[in-house]
Amino acid sequence: MTNFLEQLPKRIRDIAESLNVLTPEEVLTTPRVKFLDTRVTSVYTLVRKCTPDDVRVLKDAAAKWLAETPLTADSLFKPLANVRWSRVSFGCPALDRCTGGGVVTRGITEICGAAGVGKTQLLLQLALCVQLPLQLGGLGKGVAYICTEDVFPARRLREMSNAMEARYPQESLNLMGNVFVEHQREIDTLINCVVNHLPRLLRQHSIGLIVIDSVGAIFRLFTDYLERARLMRRLANALISYADKYNCAVVCVNQVSSKCNGSSDDAPCLGLQWSHLGRTRMCITRVPKQHMVQDQLLTVRKLEILYSPETPNDFAEFLITAQGVVELPAKVRRL
Ligand code: ATP
Ligand code: MG
Repeated sequence: MTNFLEQLPKRIRDIAESLNVLTPEEVLTTPRVKFLDTRVTSVYTLVRKCTPDDVRVLKDAAAKWLAETPLTADSLFKPLANVRWSRVSFGCPALDRCTGGGVVTRGITEICGAAGVGKTQLLLQLALCVQLPLQLGGLGKGVAYICTEDVFPARRLREMSNAMEARYPQESLNLMGNVFVEHQREIDTLINCVVNHLPRLLRQHSIGLIVIDSVGAIFRLFTDYLERARLMRRLANALISYADKYNCAVVCVNQVSSKCNGSSDDAPCLGLQWSHLGRTRMCITRVPKQHMVQDQLLTVRKLEILYSPETPNDFAEFLITAQGVVELPAKVRRL
């Protein structure tokens, strides 16, 4: 059987090759504008000569090729191989144990919790861990960190990155150099950033983690719920497509609010409209116990999995120290 590209006219083949779109599946999933876009390429390249008709011919050929290619029994097993998604370690053994190895690079993972409970601290630690090599639980990739509320805590990240770099001296890490930060406080600019700017960053840099800290702050004050649902879907769909295409983890922070039924439990904000868009939901709470670390009395916190397709609803306790998120000392865990 001939190769997909070989059967195309040379001119159309050159267009596909110049964009490194080599398989029929890639041709179909690459947006038309990418073929027509001349801004990212030299004016002398063939892409400049690509017309809407050329794109149609290329996409038609890809669709025809896929429709006519008989399936082999072997190819039926390929989707199963893709199911083994990567994970980004939390850098804290207790949290990794309870989550099955960290945050999965699939769909949206939501971390919710009350103000000051440690959501941002956990995300900063993930932002460092994703840069670690595979054997240390990372993906060896950078992070896109979008703040919608507070200013990015760069000093705290520096403090934690110094501690992590000291933990792995043999790796000669530069953990501050691969964190790309954006501040977006309005919904319109956030969507514009995610839909238009983020794909460029994902193409140009190797990104293993996208963080939005937080979605709760952006969507909480909406009163037009239909419009809010539409914008949430737009944001979530873009993020889910990046997770699929670039095999990166996506973590969104959400806040909690008191339940209207008078119960003492807090519920994640944004209702069913948002919860249906996420794949995994975790919640951080304070545990009513404290632990002494280097003359400092620290509050014990708990990360609980509220739902996840691949992990049971487990929980693990942790502490936040100057070094970052750490598990409780072994003798305390046994008590
Ligand atoms: P918000 O919803 O307001 O953004 P949050 O859940 O993101 O809150 P964090 O900023 O992640 O909260 O956590 C703040 C807590 O982290 C502080 O209350 C403090 O207990 C702890 N913390 C921050 N820095 C340190 C440090 N250097 N040493 C020990 N604990 C720290
Ligand atoms: Mg925070």
